[in-house]
Amino acid sequence: SLYLYQNQFLPKDQVSISPDDRGYYFGDGIYEVFRVYNGVLFEPEGHYRRLEKSAREVRIPLPYNIERMHQYLVELIQANHIQEGTVYLQITRGTAPRSHPFPPLDTEPVLMAYCNQIARPLSTMEQGITAITADDIRWLKCDLKTLNLLANVMAKQEALVQGAGEVILHRKGTVTECSSSNFMIVKKGEILTHPANNLILHGITREVVFRLARKLDIVYHERAFTIEDLHSAEEAFISGTTVEITPVISVNGRAVGQGNPGPVTRKLQQAFEQLVNSL
Ligand code: PMP
Repeated sequence: SLYLYQNQFLPKDQVSISPDDRGYYFGDGIYEVFRVYNGVLFEPEGHYRRLEKSAREVRIPLPYNIERMHQYLVELIQANHIQEGTVYLQITRGTAPRSHPFPPLDTEPVLMAYCNQIARPLSTMEQGITAITADDIRWLKCDLKTLNLLANVMAKQEALVQGAGEVILHRKGTVTECSSSNFMIVKKGEILTHPANNLILHGITREVVFRLARKLDIVYHERAFTIEDLHSAEEAFISGTTVEITPVISVNGRAVGQGNPGPVTRKLQQAFEQLVNSL
């Protein structure tokens, strides 16, 4: 498969990243994961806007503008003949001997991107997944999509060890999001999800869910809720670029609602399906 490395298309085995890359030492970089449906990038503007925000706030200059970036990603998708899949893009602060301060101003950021051909997660979207809860021990800039994912990785692994598909993170009982997706519950037929502040990643799929909810006349609130609210919720689901809209049918071994994907979740999934099929 062909990778994009800086401004070149190269086979994977010709992409060489220095051991002095600051991404390797410090997780000093940012990334995006895009979905490709039918050979086309899904919601690219949202991803580019978020990438620009992450770059600005961690002060990594983007190596080229968004139009150029888009051209490269489209070329990458075509060169790899991707119909259904993802594009992973990361940019680190560049290569320099290990030292905490930013490297000299002329240090070039290192950009790398590749595609994966992957099918949509049809069976988990149909059946739903189970989840556990865990303390959200992450830092206070969870709205930036940075490479510092150790807390997310640890939490996800704990879920898998316990036989669950995702982990719902909370700060002192207030639910934020999941290790690699946003989290929503349904109470009295209305959607609740944590507000888009510094404590969660502002998911592109989360925005798509809002758009679909408006179209379907489903009320939604960007309002924090607690683990207790979750335990009395009728429905719960996660949203994310690769998981799309996936029902959560139990939490810590307790059924959510009837223990099946609920009607609001199903309506949203159907609308999402229509959107994807219209691309
Ligand atoms: N929260 C976290 C922590 C994530 O890593 C992700 C990305 N998978 C999401 C939410 C969902 O964001 P998006 O819908 O943009 O994929």
